[in-house]
Amino acid sequence: SRTRMVINFAAGPAKLPEEVLKEVQANLLNCNGSGISVMEMSHRSSNYGKIQETAINDLRELLNVPSNYKILLMQGGGTGQFAAVALNLIGITGSADYVITGSWSSKAAKEAAQYGKVNAVIPKLAKYTTVPRQSTWQLDPKASYVYYCDNETVEGVEFDFIPEVPEGVPLVADMSSNFLSRPFDVSKFGVIFAGAQKNIGPAGTTVIIVREDLIGKHLKTTPSILNFELMDKNSSLLNTPPTFGIYVMGLVFKWIKTNGGIAGMEKQSAAKSKLIYDIIDQSEGFFYCPVDTNVRSRMNVPFRIGSAAGDDALEKEFLAKAEAEGMIQLKGHRSVGGIRASLYNAVTLAETQKLANLMLAFYKNNKN
Ligand code: PLP
Repeated sequence: SRTRMVINFAAGPAKLPEEVLKEVQANLLNCNGSGISVMEMSHRSSNYGKIQETAINDLRELLNVPSNYKILLMQGGGTGQFAAVALNLIGITGSADYVITGSWSSKAAKEAAQYGKVNAVIPKLAKYTTVPRQSTWQLDPKASYVYYCDNETVEGVEFDFIPEVPEGVPLVADMSSNFLSRPFDVSKFGVIFAGAQKNIGPAGTTVIIVREDLIGKHLKTTPSILNFELMDKNSSLLNTPPTFGIYVMGLVFKWIKTNGGIAGMEKQSAAKSKLIYDIIDQSEGFFYCPVDTNVRSRMNVPFRIGSAAGDDALEKEFLAKAEAEGMIQLKGHRSVGGIRASLYNAVTLAETQKLANLMLAFYKNNKN
């Protein structure tokens, strides 16, 4: 039963499963019989070691991560990985290909350009509402890697395919905002990374899945903290990790396992996002989502109210009505405006239905 009074549609940090938070609470003062909180435990203790190892093993199982891939836990968030990916890989040939489909891949490309040559694979998009089909991309067979963002959190653009890359060129994906929301074939990738604070845990931890042969190719100037080889050699315990965040993330992995695994998350994501997009599409333009239908994000649903440009007064009224009903953090990203409903794994179908109901009522009361 619902124990919290609000429904949290935040883009990240975002809602965590109530079951997980309750478990955190129940173990807060005495974690796994240690007599202390996980926050007070040495990261070198066997008790903590088990927590971190279990989390990594559960993730490996959930995603079917092949044995020639390492799972690293690092700090610095997604932004840290914008630098880390380039520092660890761009030295292979000196250049990398970037598919820029939104704010986050654009930031990643800028960061990487500090360390090597960055090629834009597609012409600059006037607005981030589409993913150009792969046949139009200009891929360099000599690139160190091809980089893309699987789900652009700000604009709500999610890839509906895994890019094909030239033979021998590794594919790198930022999956920060849709990680563990659908199964995928890890073996198609060189590196996958995801900040935890959307689908899998509290802020502070970043998951990296990297193919073994790509480890050890870093630039000499790579800071130790961003160095895949050092992190791997030290089992992600090079320095003090964010122990509490990793603990909670591990509980989220268990929660996913008991809730149908990643296939279960995918099913829920499809159902939740369909509820909202159907209302948008059936509202005769009252609700407006600018994103191409085939790449609409299941995780972040951005929309305007009243017109394509958004009616400021109507949008404010909608947000106020939502808040009055306990639905919070629905305001769109400041660069896009309007509304953004984030429907990460922890957001339930029943919660999404409440938002759908509000949208329908608002439409009936305000359509011309
Ligand atoms: N990549 C994506 C897809 C994101 O949504 C975010 C969001 O914050 C980032 C990267 C940046 O992550 P961080 O804030 O952890 O640096």
